[in-house]
Amino acid sequence: MSRIAIVEKDKCNPIKCDYLCIKLCPLNRSGEECIIKDKKVIIDEELCNGCGICQNRCPFKAISIINLPKELKVQPIHQYSKNGFRLYRLPTPMFGKVTGIIGKNGIGKTTALNILANIIKPNLGNLDKESSYEDLIKFFKGTESQNFFEKLKNHEIIVSYKPQRVDDIPLNYKGKVIDLLKKVDEKNKLSEISKILELDNILNNDIKNLSGGELQRVTIAAASLKKANLYIFDEPTSYLDIKQRLNVAKFIRSLSNEDTAILVVEHDLIILDYLADLIYIMYGKESCYGICSQIKSTKSGINTYLEGYLKEENVKFRDKKIQFLVKPPIRKKTPIELTSWEKLTKKLDHFNLEVSPGLINENEVIGILGENAIGKTTFIKLLAGVLEIDSGGINKKLKISYKPQYIQASNELVQDVLKNIKKEIILHLNLNDLAFKKVNELSGGELQKLSIASCLSQKADLYLLDEPCAYLDIEQRLIISKLIRDEMELNNTSALIVDHDIIFIDYISSKLLIFSGIPAKNGLTNGPFEVESGMNLFLKELDITMRKDPETNRPRINKLNSQLDRIQKSKGNLYYSK
Ligand code: SF4
Ligand code: SF4
Repeated sequence: MSRIAIVEKDKCNPIKCDYLCIKLCPLNRSGEECIIKDKKVIIDEELCNGCGICQNRCPFKAISIINLPKELKVQPIHQYSKNGFRLYRLPTPMFGKVTGIIGKNGIGKTTALNILANIIKPNLGNLDKESSYEDLIKFFKGTESQNFFEKLKNHEIIVSYKPQRVDDIPLNYKGKVIDLLKKVDEKNKLSEISKILELDNILNNDIKNLSGGELQRVTIAAASLKKANLYIFDEPTSYLDIKQRLNVAKFIRSLSNEDTAILVVEHDLIILDYLADLIYIMYGKESCYGICSQIKSTKSGINTYLEGYLKEENVKFRDKKIQFLVKPPIRKKTPIELTSWEKLTKKLDHFNLEVSPGLINENEVIGILGENAIGKTTFIKLLAGVLEIDSGGINKKLKISYKPQYIQASNELVQDVLKNIKKEIILHLNLNDLAFKKVNELSGGELQKLSIASCLSQKADLYLLDEPCAYLDIEQRLIISKLIRDEMELNNTSALIVDHDIIFIDYISSKLLIFSGIPAKNGLTNGPFEVESGMNLFLKELDITMRKDPETNRPRINKLNSQLDRIQKSKGNLYYSK
């Protein structure tokens, strides 16, 4: 079938619209039953002529009538319900390789992982029955997936799975970290892996008291301690700082050998580039359908993803290319100081923060880079006057609007939250689509967008967004970065952005503030600097160098001790090769 009709049940609200779609559908009007009532509605895809009236007139945007790419002549691998989400084609794990999956949210990446992990039994689009292994082997005949399902059938594949939402772990596991890890330590490698993932200091902590970054590393450790030959990591770097991301990436790579396959879904392109040998692109329409591309080399996969065009398949899956600027833009206006500060110090329990003198101008977006627990939030609280300074002074205390790293999800309806959000931001982020959901029913990415929108809608001198990228895909990250920059420019305000996605920080920042020190002991701020000098300082601490990909201008990490790495280090130019 080249056309599908999707009804998003959580958006469909017939009590409020009195089945408007049924009244308007030309086929229903001529006596046929193209759309029928079934608590919500069901659309008969065979009858539907694709006129699009129901899609355009549904007040809750619950219907999507989609003409699938004509190249897609196959039946889906899995369909959730009648008029429900469909997944076409599957990625295949490769033994001896780290295979990455890239794609926007809501197009079936986690569904694909769940099928490969044997958690979801695919139905090949037949809603009446699960497919047997024999069905799947026949369906995939002649492809890599055929071998995979044969092995799965013969119990030759043992899967270990790191789920996406680590925040949910404390709901299912109680007690100390060490007890959880001991239970799953089939390889008897707890102390080795604990050391690598820097868990030694938290082994005796209660799981419910762990930070997001700690939960992430504990969950990665738990998945890796199991004996398996297919390890699946769904977004393994959320909440981790860049040092931890690089460490986790190296660790995940180290699990791969000729008898073991690794699959990773990751939105941080720098890390994906560093981690994966091969890449699948997943594309489609959010909440409606997802398609998996052919396999590609990492470089070509990421560049193709940014391009939005699959040459081999002749499919354009995005109207615009994602482009990176050759250099951060230079502001032409004469800078006007928003605030400045002398050297500041602050002691909090056993933590000491020293802030070197600096200033923020109006209309600046300052990226903040540094490890977790190094005093970033303390610094902001000093600027806001929420914390008293021990020594030093601030020229002008600022009114700050703050989006925290961890977002509390309330029980209220999104439409009530939207009353306090600027209309243009609602439109920009398509938040009206979420209006009838409760805040605590939103996905991580939806909640993140809502929270960023609330923060930017407050009246303030300075906006602080702590990890705005968490749970957002690359496209959403770029939309958010444009929104933040536009808002700052329009209102002559400034923003401080804490994030660990270097591509995002590189893309959004006009200046950089760098934090160094020892986590939980002492922190020192340096800057704000121009982006290039800030990055040089930051990369020096990480002992890495970065170049820009000549085709797309995206930053890439150089291989340690490669020729470029050595040349850039010798020139002290760690950021971009010139
Ligand atoms: Fe109303 Fe839209 Fe649901 Fe049809 S799909 S019943 S128009 S909310
Ligand atoms: Fe009816 Fe047209 Fe909607 Fe199809 S697209 S269900 S024909 S209104």
